[in-house]
Amino acid sequence: MLTLKGLVIRESDRGEASKSISILTAERGIVNVFIRGGKKSSKNASPSELFAYSTFCLEEKKKATQQMYYLNSCESEKLFYNIRLDAVKMALGMYFCELLGYIATEETASEELLRLTLNTFYSLDTDRIDMELLRAVFEFRLLCETGFRPALLGCAECLKSESDMMYIDIASGSMLCKDCYEEKGELNIFEADKTLLYTIRFIALAEYDRLFSFRLSDKYLSQLCEFTKKYLRYHVRGELRTLKFYKALKGD
Ligand SMILES: [Zn+2]
Repeated sequence: MLTLKGLVIRESDRGEASKSISILTAERGIVNVFIRGGKKSSKNASPSELFAYSTFCLEEKKKATQQMYYLNSCESEKLFYNIRLDAVKMALGMYFCELLGYIATEETASEELLRLTLNTFYSLDTDRIDMELLRAVFEFRLLCETGFRPALLGCAECLKSESDMMYIDIASGSMLCKDCYEEKGELNIFEADKTLLYTIRFIALAEYDRLFSFRLSDKYLSQLCEFTKKYLRYHVRGELRTLKFYKALKGD
């Protein structure tokens, strides 16, 4: 028997009575769990529903080359009830889950991803931070934690750590100062002044206990969202279905 703590990021029906769920775990990345009779049994219902963070006791079986996991029992640690009670929060939570499923794989080492996601859900559940800012923080930090953290410490050519404007290359994740940019010229560039650069650096590197406790003016929030949108679009082609749904509900 295997015991794992995990956050349920996907639920799907399997036949008449059963269901399967995907859980994000620190130890094994995303794990797919089959729950026999899961649609009917109420015993394991709430700890195994979407957004539940629970302790799962699983049976492991090898089927051909595939590792299968069957639910034996589960107990909830945190259910994030407030997210469920609000349609817009629920839509944003579903988008976070779809994005995770898109970017993280079953093999991704996920301790940081799980911490990021639990902190994000906690912030959404408790209204700790503006929802659009939360979305930008989650999107960008998720890319940072999955191998796409840009090199933000200084100019890639002359190593200068800042100038009035810095130019982030969306494709390579490298950065140029004003002088080097004017000399080289790059196509897929995002301009960031000092305040925006500090904000982007902060999101890329801050500890989780500080990551969700800052505010931004409307001007910088919209610049940050523009940056994360561009950066995310480069790595995730097309707009995810749940993001469209969230935007529609929010009235964007
Ligand atoms: Zn330079």
